[in-house]
Amino acid sequence: MAASIVQSASNIKSEGAYPSSEAWVALNTSVDGRLQPGIPFARPCFPLASNETKGHFSPSDCNIVEADYLNHLSISNTVGGYINTQWETCQRTGQECLLDWTLPSNAAATMPPRICSQGSVPTFAIDVRNATDVLRGLEFSKEYNISLAIKNTGHDYKGRSGGPGALALWLHNLKSIEFAPNFIPQNCPSAMRTEYAVTVGAGVQFSDLIPFATEHNITIPSGGDLSVGAAGGYPQGGGHGILSNVYGLAADRVLEYEVITPRGEHIIANDCQYSDLFYALRGGGGGTFGVVLKMTTKALPGMPVNAVFSTFNSTVPGNRLEFIRFMVENSLTWAQQGWGTYIIPSEGILLANTVLQPAAANESMKELREFMTGNLTGTFLMTVEPNYETFFNNYIGALIHVPVGVPLTPASRLIPVQSFSENREQLISTLNDIQNVDILIAFGTTPFLFGSNNRTSVTPAWRDSLWHVVFGDIWNYDTSTTDISQKYSNLSAVANGLRDFTPDSGAYQNEADVYEPNHEESFWGNNYPLLLSIKQKYDPDHILDCWQCVGWRGPSSPQYSCYIEGF
Ligand SMILES: Cc1cc2nc3c(=O)[nH]c(=O)nc-3n(C[C@H](O)[C@H](O)[C@H](O)COP(=O)(O)OP(=O)(O)OC[C@H]3O[C@@H](n4cnc5c(N)ncnc54)[C@H](O)[C@@H]3O)c2cc1C
Repeated sequence: MAASIVQSASNIKSEGAYPSSEAWVALNTSVDGRLQPGIPFARPCFPLASNETKGHFSPSDCNIVEADYLNHLSISNTVGGYINTQWETCQRTGQECLLDWTLPSNAAATMPPRICSQGSVPTFAIDVRNATDVLRGLEFSKEYNISLAIKNTGHDYKGRSGGPGALALWLHNLKSIEFAPNFIPQNCPSAMRTEYAVTVGAGVQFSDLIPFATEHNITIPSGGDLSVGAAGGYPQGGGHGILSNVYGLAADRVLEYEVITPRGEHIIANDCQYSDLFYALRGGGGGTFGVVLKMTTKALPGMPVNAVFSTFNSTVPGNRLEFIRFMVENSLTWAQQGWGTYIIPSEGILLANTVLQPAAANESMKELREFMTGNLTGTFLMTVEPNYETFFNNYIGALIHVPVGVPLTPASRLIPVQSFSENREQLISTLNDIQNVDILIAFGTTPFLFGSNNRTSVTPAWRDSLWHVVFGDIWNYDTSTTDISQKYSNLSAVANGLRDFTPDSGAYQNEADVYEPNHEESFWGNNYPLLLSIKQKYDPDHILDCWQCVGWRGPSSPQYSCYIEGF
C-alpha cells in the first residue's frame, strides 16, 4: 500500500510546498494505511488519463460503472463519486472524467482523444474510521496548507465536499447506529430527557436509518433522497422533508454532536456544553465548524402516514396555471392541517400527514380530489401507510424522481406566508412563468406548524415561509463551459424573479443558487455575525473553508479555481 501511495503521489503536479511523496506515505502510516487516492468514478471507462489521475482503464469495471452511473448509492459508496457530477470536474477549464448520462456506454464520451482528468476530485482521501484519523487529516492540512474537504455522500449542490488538489476526510464508513431511548445530552439536567433518540455515525445514510427506525417502531423524518447523509450537510445546513411542517427541520431535532474541532479538540456539543458550537452546527452549514463524528437526533414514535399523490392532465392548455393557482390558494390551509407537500407544477402534488385521523384526512382532501379529477381530469391516489418507511418507498421513492448522476444545479427561494395572501397573484404568475427549467418543485416542507425552538442558526426566513421553491437545470458531459455558465446565469435570473417580490426572505443554503447574491444574509439572516464569531473561535487557523460557507476566503481563493468565473 505504501508503494502505491508513493506511486500515486509522484504523479501529482506539485505546486509550491505541496507535500512530498514521503509526507503522504507518513500520513498513510499514521492512519493505518487508510489513505487512498481519489479516483474519478468513471475512470475505468477511459483508456487515457491525465498524469495526475490515478486508477486504470478496465472494461470489466467500466461495465459496472456504466450500469451504476445513475445509482445514488453506488456513487455515494465511492470515494471519488459525486451525485451532481459537475463537482467531479473542473468546470472552469472543462477538464473532466464523465460519461454520457443519457447513454453511459456512449464511447464518444470516453474514447481517445478524450482523457479522464482529475477535475475537482480530491487527490487523496483518508477513509476515516476513528477520531485519530480526523486529527491526522487536520494536522496534515495545517502543516502543508493543503485544502481539506470533508466528504460524506457527495450530495452537495455547491461542490463543498471536494476540490482540486484537496485531501478529503471520507466519512462514509462511520456507519454505527444506536437506539438511545430516554436520552439525556451530556451534562444536561434530566428534565432534558428525550423519549426516543438515535445516535448515528457520520457516514449513516437515510437508506440505513429508515429501516432501523421501522425495526424499533420509531419515526425518523428524512429528505427526498435516501442516500443523503443523516449526520452531515443535511442536519448541519437545515434539512427539510415532507414531515418538517409538523416536526421541524433536521437541525431542530439534533440533540447532540460528537465533533473534532479544527483546534483539535474531541468534544461533545449540545445545549449544555459547547452550546455555541452546537448552535452553529444546527444550520450554520457543513464543512465549516468541525468534523462531526456522531450525531444524536430526536426520533418520533412509530406512526401511520396519510399519503396522497395526485396528478393533473398536463396535455390540456391552461391546466398548469389552474393547478398552480389552486396550490397557492390552498397551501396555507393544508399546512395548518399538518400536511407536508411536494408540488410539481408540471405534474401534480404529493402530500403526507401524520396528525389527522384517516377520516379527517380524507375530508380535508375532498376539494383537492374533486378539483384534480374533475376540473383538471387527472388522477388521485390516497392511502394510509403503516409507517414512514412504507410511505417513503410507495410515494416519494416510487413517484418523485430527482435526477442523480448528472450535472445538475439548483437555485431556490423561501416564500413567506404573506406572499400567499398579499402577493398571491404575483406568486401565481411568477411560478407560472418559470417554464424553461429542467426541474421545478415547490416544497411545502418549511417548519410552519413546528415554529422555532430559537436554538438553530438557519435563516429565520424558514420559520416565516410556507414554501421552499427549487428549480434547476441539467447538462451533459459535452456541454461547453460557456453553455454551463449560461445555465447558472439563467437560473440566477429566474431566482431574481422570486427574490424581487420576497426581498426580506432568504434561501436554503443546501439547495441554493451556487452564485447566491448576498449569501450571508440569504442563508443565515441575523444569525450571521454570531456564526462568524463562532467560526473564528473554533477554527482560528482557518483550516476548513468551503464555497459560500460562514467566513469563507472568497471566490478568488485557489481552492475555488474550478468554479466558473464571472458571477
Ligand atoms: C438527490 C438529492 C436530494 C436531496 N434532497 C434533499 C431534501 O429532501 N432535503 C434537504 O434538506 N436537502 C436535500 N438535498 C441536499 C442535501 O441536504 C445536501 O446536499 C447536503 O449537503 C448533503 O449532505 P451530505 O453530508 O450527505 O453530503 P456531502 O456532499 O458529503 O457533504 C455536504 C457538506 O457537508 C459537509 N459535511 C458532510 N459530513 C460532515 C461531517 N460529518 N462533519 C462536518 N461537515 C460535514 C461537507 O464538507 C459538505 O460541505 C438533496 C441533495 C441531493 C443531491
